[in-house]
Amino acid sequence: MPSPVLERRTAGALAWHTDLELLERHGILVAFSERTGGTSVGPWSSLNLAAHVGDDPTSVDANRLRLLSALGLEETAERLTCAEQVHGARVTRVTPERAGAGASARGRRPIPGTDAMITALPDTPLMMCFADCVPVVLVAVRPVRTVAVAHAGWRGALAGLPDSAARALAAAAGCPTSSLLAYVGPHICRECYEVGDELASQFAAAFGNIVAAQGRVDLGAVVSEGLRAAGVPTERQAGGGTCTTHPAGRFFSYRAEGVTGRHGALVVVL
Ligand SMILES: [Zn+2]
Repeated sequence: MPSPVLERRTAGALAWHTDLELLERHGILVAFSERTGGTSVGPWSSLNLAAHVGDDPTSVDANRLRLLSALGLEETAERLTCAEQVHGARVTRVTPERAGAGASARGRRPIPGTDAMITALPDTPLMMCFADCVPVVLVAVRPVRTVAVAHAGWRGALAGLPDSAARALAAAAGCPTSSLLAYVGPHICRECYEVGDELASQFAAAFGNIVAAQGRVDLGAVVSEGLRAAGVPTERQAGGGTCTTHPAGRFFSYRAEGVTGRHGALVVVL
């Protein structure tokens, strides 16, 4: 498997970032959505995928279906699996009983209290929601195709969530972490992410050289370094290279907007 690459695709006003070769060769679909092409209005305009941010649940479900349809996944809509993200470090295995948790904004609740999900179940898209935090998708292509998605804000990054997710995925798939593929999706960039002195010093203590001057933190670099420390080589990591805060309008940004929607990170074994 050559180095993973994320490229931008569109269908009408919808846009997402994906690895076409991973899909063609291994039947695994990765997607990081943008915010355009949906039905939501106001601060959630327009492809808001999250049920917990005050948007109309009917719009959320319509948006999810639009994205799944654009990805060719409409048949899996009832198995879409979501989590109640809490900025923690818990990694949850999605078993058959959990598949479809939170699929509808009006249905049964998402998997409670977890910021990473893992599964080898086919046709079971895992999705997490983001507005500035770092989305991480991890993939094992053999011996058992197994995937993970993780939500890393500053708490998760400091707590080593991406590293824990990589180790848990490798254990579940039966492969070394060095053979995983990692996709680090769109997130707030270093220039836009200014933090207080106390948090800056916590990052400096844990990651030293990654913290830039004036207390700005590169969360993507922190995540990438965590993955590398867990054994995932840098050349097996793909970055989005896109900021969620600037320029405005492509993604949702909690830091810039406060009340706003969420874009998604999705991965599925087909
Ligand atoms: Zn930025």
